[in-house]
Amino acid sequence: MRRFVLTLALAGSFIATAVCGLPAPGSHSAREKRAVAPRAPPTPRPQTRAVAVSQANRPSTVVVIDAGHGGIDRGGIPGQRVPEKTMTLDVAQRLKALLAPYGYRVVMTRDSDVFVPLGTRVAIANSYRDAIFVCIHFNAAPRRSANGIETYFYSSQSLPLASAIHYYVAGGAPTPNRGVRRRGFYVLRKTTIPAVLVECGFLTNAGEAQYAQSSAYQQKLAEEIGRGIRERSLVASTSAANRLAANNTTVPLQPFIDQTHYRDPDLVRSKHRKRSSKSSSKSKSSKNKKSSDSDSEKKSSTGKKKSAPAKTED
Ligand code: ZN
Repeated sequence: MRRFVLTLALAGSFIATAVCGLPAPGSHSAREKRAVAPRAPPTPRPQTRAVAVSQANRPSTVVVIDAGHGGIDRGGIPGQRVPEKTMTLDVAQRLKALLAPYGYRVVMTRDSDVFVPLGTRVAIANSYRDAIFVCIHFNAAPRRSANGIETYFYSSQSLPLASAIHYYVAGGAPTPNRGVRRRGFYVLRKTTIPAVLVECGFLTNAGEAQYAQSSAYQQKLAEEIGRGIRERSLVASTSAANRLAANNTTVPLQPFIDQTHYRDPDLVRSKHRKRSSKSSSKSKSSKNKKSSDSDSEKKSSTGKKKSAPAKTED
């Protein structure tokens, strides 16, 4: 009996430790406020950032970079002036160049303006073990004022990567922080490796479209995504073991919004488009939708998956 009580006490203290390990509720909103605050336009940064010595011994990791859309798939919404496919490829290629000096092996799902089906993108990602998959997108919405950065993941193993990338990209962007979100994008749901999709701002928003077209900002986005990739193992976890491994580092685990069963009003247009185009067939086979944005809606047709969001415990 005494042993039992002792066990309970130990378990209690462990739980308390785990709970205390959660990021302070206010931290995100404070950060968010900072991200929302107006900032000066980004200035070009010289490309002389030295490769940190500590990075030199980092075990080689495969990073599969997925530039959203391409070829006949322009991305975005009808009538959108700035083609998403061009912006995503530009950032992806910059990211590739930035990761190489750190010893990463970079694989591109596309390296030019070609159409690559989502199924192929996933197959490429899944053909590498111990790899990570980073999809680069820009957002679009009929509501012109919609703006900000958001980062998506689906599997719980992808959360640290999503957290780290979002922490840097949103923190370094002159636009609002829309948070980390869990959602069943095809490319996230079907990949077996940690997979993240970054929406680097709304091309339908005049201000963000202007930023997105500047090479300085594209470079900045690539740098921040790259930083998130490099430091993903340093994300503070609710797991005591992981926190120990992370050595008191300062990349906080981002709280996330589970949108698995929720539609963002800004993305409702995708639903309309999908419904009109797929009213008769509801097959759950993986037809390769043009857009990963609209693909987020596709999950609802397949999507009565296990509802339990994997929250933060790993
Ligand atoms: Zn997209």
